[in-house]
Amino acid sequence: MGLHREIRRFRKMGGAAVAGYYLRRLGNAWVRPLNLVVPARFECPCCGWCGARFLNHVGYQETLRNYVCPRCGSHARHRGLAVFLRRMLAARERPATVLHCAPERGIAAVLAANPKISCITVDMAPHTVSVRADICALPFQEAAFDLIICCHVLEHLPADGPALKEIARALKPGGQALVMVPMLHDWESRPTLEFGAAQPRMDDHWRLYGHDVAGRIAAAGLACTGVRFSSFLTAAQQETYQSGGDIIFIGSKPAL
Ligand SMILES: [Zn+2]
Repeated sequence: MGLHREIRRFRKMGGAAVAGYYLRRLGNAWVRPLNLVVPARFECPCCGWCGARFLNHVGYQETLRNYVCPRCGSHARHRGLAVFLRRMLAARERPATVLHCAPERGIAAVLAANPKISCITVDMAPHTVSVRADICALPFQEAAFDLIICCHVLEHLPADGPALKEIARALKPGGQALVMVPMLHDWESRPTLEFGAAQPRMDDHWRLYGHDVAGRIAAAGLACTGVRFSSFLTAAQQETYQSGGDIIFIGSKPAL
C-alpha cells in the first residue's frame, strides 16, 4: 500500500482512530517470542509454518485474533483456499494455465509447487506481478486460461460486472474461476450492500456481498456454485488452520 494512500486514509479516520490502530498493533509484539517457546498448535497449509499462535490482524476497525501466518502472511481465507486449490490441482491430469489476480504469497506458493501449472500474475502494482493490468481490461486473448483465481479483489472496484466479464472472456471453455469476496454476516438472507464509494475504514471496499453474488457471476456467463470451507475441511483442520467460515464461488465457463 502506498504511503500517500495511507496518509489520505488516516486523515479521513481522525486522530483517535489512528492512535487506537497503532496501539492494537503492539499486541502482536508478544506473539513471535511466544512461538519460540510454546509447543505448536496451529499450522499454515499455504507454507507449512507451525506454531503456538498466528499473528493478530489489526484492521482499521477491528482486530482479528490468531489470524495471520507469521511466515507467509496468509489469512484464514487463504488457508482454506490453499487446501481446496491443492486438491483441485491434484485431481487434474493435464497441465493448466492459471491467472492469479492480485496474488497472495501463500496461494502463489501452492501454485509454484505444482509442476503442472504455468501461472501469470496480474495486478495494478507493477513490482509484485508478471503483468501489470486492470482486471476490468485484461491484456490477454480470449480463452487463454484454464483457471483464474480472484480472491478479495471485486470489492475494491466501483463496479464488479466489467471484471467478471473479463474473467469469463479470458477463461477457456470448460475453465473455472475461483472467486472469493467479503460477505455480509447474514449474506444468505440479504442482497449485496453497496456503499456507493470506497470505505476508508473498511480497506477501501465498495461493498459487502449478499446472496446475489452467485447471480453476478452467472450474469457474466459463468455457471456458479458455492463451496463452503466447512464442506472440505474437517473440524480438526478448521481448528488447526484457524479457517472455516468462508465460501468459494466457482464460476464455470460452459464447454464447447
Ligand atoms: Zn503460511
